[in-house]
Amino acid sequence: MWLSRWRTETVTCIACGETIPRSEAREYDKYGNRWEREGKTFEYFCKPCDGDLCRYGRDGLEAQLTDLEAGEHSQEAFLRRYLCSLEERRRVEER
Ligand SMILES: [Zn+2]
Repeated sequence: MWLSRWRTETVTCIACGETIPRSEAREYDKYGNRWEREGKTFEYFCKPCDGDLCRYGRDGLEAQLTDLEAGEHSQEAFLRRYLCSLEERRRVEER
């Protein structure tokens, strides 16, 4: 079975790093536009990760991650900023 893997195009799940056949992966477009396919590459989730993620609202998440400069600081620094911004958001929403 694993021999057939070499002939199958595989992709990497961006959440867990698992390598999966492209045919079994879920496409993920970080801009939320899965219909415009021209000249772009998709990122992929495996099915279990896709199922985990879809239960949460992603409205504004990418913009928020960009604001927080995700990936440009250590994970610890990023998480601290992320948690702070969640707190801030909750305070704003409670007003
Ligand atoms: Zn995964």
